[in-house]
Amino acid sequence: IPENSGKMSALTDQLYRSENSWIKLMQRIVLGFGGVTALKELGYPIEAFHLNEGHAVFAFVEKARGNTGVELEELKKKFCYTCHTPVQAGHDRFSEGDIRNVFRDEDADLIRKFGREDSGMINLTLLSMNIASSINAVSKRHQEVMQLQFPEYKDRIKYVTNGVHPYTWISKDFLELFKRFHSTLGDIETNPMALAKVQSLKNNQEFRSQVWLAHQANKERFCNLFGKWKLKKDIFTICWARRIAAYKRPSLILNDIERLIAIAKKVGPLQIVLAGKAHPNDNLGFTFINEMLDKVDALGDDNYDLLKITILENYDIYLAQLLTSGVDLWLNNPYPPFEASGTSGMKAILNGVAQLTTLDGWVVEAEDKGIGRIFGHRYNNDKIGSEFDRYMKDDAEALYNSLEEMAALYYTTFHNKINLSSGWIDIMINCIATGAHFNTYRMLDEYKHLIWDACGKEKKIAKV
Ligand SMILES: *Cc1c(COP(=O)(O)O)cnc(C)c1O
Repeated sequence: IPENSGKMSALTDQLYRSENSWIKLMQRIVLGFGGVTALKELGYPIEAFHLNEGHAVFAFVEKARGNTGVELEELKKKFCYTCHTPVQAGHDRFSEGDIRNVFRDEDADLIRKFGREDSGMINLTLLSMNIASSINAVSKRHQEVMQLQFPEYKDRIKYVTNGVHPYTWISKDFLELFKRFHSTLGDIETNPMALAKVQSLKNNQEFRSQVWLAHQANKERFCNLFGKWKLKKDIFTICWARRIAAYKRPSLILNDIERLIAIAKKVGPLQIVLAGKAHPNDNLGFTFINEMLDKVDALGDDNYDLLKITILENYDIYLAQLLTSGVDLWLNNPYPPFEASGTSGMKAILNGVAQLTTLDGWVVEAEDKGIGRIFGHRYNNDKIGSEFDRYMKDDAEALYNSLEEMAALYYTTFHNKINLSSGWIDIMINCIATGAHFNTYRMLDEYKHLIWDACGKEKKIAKV
């Protein structure tokens, strides 16, 4: 608004301004202090506050003003905290001097009391854990990793595995298919957990055939929309699409292009689709994108019928819907254990899209479900390692071996006509059944029973 000075207007310009600690702090003040004030102005009688990440933790400082020690202990009962990443950049740190520059003494003392690390820095993750009555991770594996990262809080760290909203992510063709099998599955629209019952249709040839046809319809829609790139619906199609972050290893599949060509020659042609955005200030992100573009450019036209690699711009929810339903294989290759949960694979399995993945995040809870292939470096329970040594060479090799097996299995399923007895269709059905668990209905239910019911007696929760 015009009344604000230029300096203040800049606070809402851009998120995640890591280069300027004054802006970072002020943004967190807008979120924390402003959030509490806004809710009050709106007239909501909020009794408990759910902090997602530490960014909004100053809400506690606002609520704590003028409170005594006993009252502070009561106030803590009204705060719960969810951590969403083990990656360092996700945890805000400020010098005590920076804090004292913007806060009143009374507030700065409170922040220091609960948020000061041994190094002397103020850590908002620590602050959040110290002022909340409940702490949780976003998958079972992430809980283990958090417990290693924060041993003093070990017994207090719970987990609620993330989920995706099924009616945003189940494609129209699959939803209609599930409705046609109403007599077995019941009303999927009121109970997405019932998707687990697709296992009982595994030997139903009509169901197997319709799963394949629904998938082909999705794939055709995707190929047509990107007609310019001449993607074909009878070619095995692999997708990697997510934020460009180092630990997610965006360029892993491009590590050895010659090997990809060799697989295509041996087993059948491949289409690889890549998509993702980097933060505008993330130079490493740009380096990855440039490296990927260079490799794709260098591929030339010689092997175009064997290996087609397409990089799509503007990855957003709309494109994600097309990709998570329209390709054959969803590639997920974070460097373990840095993926707290990951969610795009959950979107893909709801549409019968097989997984080629490292063992990390939500995948640990689906390891034995037969949803595809698991490959690569494994986290060994006691060493977190560095998010920057990424086992690129070994894991690319492991990726290619699994990819070759998957491509071979795919092509025994579909070579001009469909082979309904193929193990590929079993994988597709396992995927859908597994999707029954990784949804927001189950997730919210767990938050209610495990976190919110224990956090404050009242049920009105502000998610900030
Ligand atoms: C689902 C989704 C993500 C998150 O995917 P991850 O697997 O958690 O990396 C990111 N961006 C868009 C547009 C999405 O739809």
